[in-house]
Amino acid sequence: MSKVKAKYDVIVIGSGPSAYTCAIRCAQLGLKVLCVDNTDINSTSGAFCNAGNVGMITLLESAKLYDTLLSDIDSHGVFAENVSLNLPKMILHKDKILDGISQQITKTFTEHKIDFINSNAKLIAPKIIELSSLHSPSQQIHAKFIILATESIPISIPCTPIDNEFILDSTAALSLNKLPKRLAILGAGVIGLELAAIWNRLGAETTLLEAQETFLGLSDNQISRQAYQIFTEQGLELRLGARVISTKILNKKVFIEYQDADGTHALRVDKLIVASGRKPNSERLSAPEANLLLDENGYVHVNENCRTNLPGVYAIGDLTLHGPMLSHKGMAEGVFVAEQIAGVIGSSVNYNIIPNVIYTEPEIAWIGQTEQALKAIGDPINIGTFPLSINHQPKSAVKSNGMIKVIACANTDKILGVHIIGCHASELIAQAVLAMEFSASSEDLARTIHSHPSSAEALREAALAIKNKGLNS
Ligand code: NAD
Repeated sequence: MSKVKAKYDVIVIGSGPSAYTCAIRCAQLGLKVLCVDNTDINSTSGAFCNAGNVGMITLLESAKLYDTLLSDIDSHGVFAENVSLNLPKMILHKDKILDGISQQITKTFTEHKIDFINSNAKLIAPKIIELSSLHSPSQQIHAKFIILATESIPISIPCTPIDNEFILDSTAALSLNKLPKRLAILGAGVIGLELAAIWNRLGAETTLLEAQETFLGLSDNQISRQAYQIFTEQGLELRLGARVISTKILNKKVFIEYQDADGTHALRVDKLIVASGRKPNSERLSAPEANLLLDENGYVHVNENCRTNLPGVYAIGDLTLHGPMLSHKGMAEGVFVAEQIAGVIGSSVNYNIIPNVIYTEPEIAWIGQTEQALKAIGDPINIGTFPLSINHQPKSAVKSNGMIKVIACANTDKILGVHIIGCHASELIAQAVLAMEFSASSEDLARTIHSHPSSAEALREAALAIKNKGLNS
């Protein structure tokens, strides 16, 4: 590490999706880049192992495959006998995928001559960072620009001390080598639901304990209601208004106490996963004398160009309060900042058009405004819906359910929101994103010819339904 003498144009702190995207774009634009991250490079996948939620999605796919083979595929004339689960192999498959991504990014870094240092980095002044690691003396490095991209970390709550043996964080929850018979998950947010979709499918009796009375409060109410119904039909035990207040480990079991409107209850499980939210990873990011402005929750203060209060210092991704905590938002900011620094005219980040996806089965995806938000502000709207049970039958292995909902302005017909629950929702939402990015009307979508049969034509059907012109509903 002491070899590092070069002066850099840009130092990126972090190695998650926002960080590596920014580093690559900076290098593509001719800037000399150093990327610093304190990830344990000897861990399963080394640097860049925090590749968004790829690990989660990989396990979900495996769990879905297993569940599909166990369900009603014999109606297709396909018989799978003696289907069994080799969990360590499934976890190994996930780790290999992550490893492949890590290697791919390392190769791209090498091709673009981006230096990478495995070390703690701290901003000590606008153009200076300090590197410190156990193995070498600390040193300072200068660059014209510094980009803070350390993403977020799980929020820990005192009543659920993580030991990663019985009480697990959301990362350890992706590496269980033995299927728990009974599993509880604290928090029915995005991460809790995705983890529940994995472990419930693999056969763990799964209970979700959610402190709030409402389920999936951020998504459209009609979609949340369907999601609740579908997930409970799948065997997920969803307890709303249930706040976990204490835990203890006894005889290799986790004893959980939670409170709801009826009082205090106890639950005994083999493992508890804590998915209580995430917070910006900013605690040790800057020295007090650097005077980096953070809010009371640790979010780095930035303007509309992702600039912090310090000259030449930017912050992107989960570190800031701009937009949701989503990898693709941070990656878009990474490109935006790189292009600003290089003086290239690029596009800014449109925070109103960022797709949200929950990778459950069925998936949930949405873009734009919900019906309840638009009604609350009194905007006149038209709504078209289409049930996916009609569309998906030829295209999915098992019987499909869910719906698509398109909301348009009653005066201009401009699309204001699209909400999907159903298989392929994460892919289907892309055409809604494109339509909204180009300010399309529901009629534009309704007139667009889609291939048949396909999942995509269901979105067109929902758009057609706005003017009661649905062909199949
Ligand atoms: P979240 O805030 O969405 O959900 C956490 C839930 O835990 C909340 O609903 C909260 O009420 C509940 N909770 C907290 N303390 C509790 C207690 N004592 N007892 C019971 N319930 C309790 O957080 P998350 O699911 O951890 O996700 C964090 C962030 O990461 C979100 O912004 C999410 O959008 C983002 N993320 C998104 C994706 C994706 O889009 N696929 C994937 C990963 C993360």
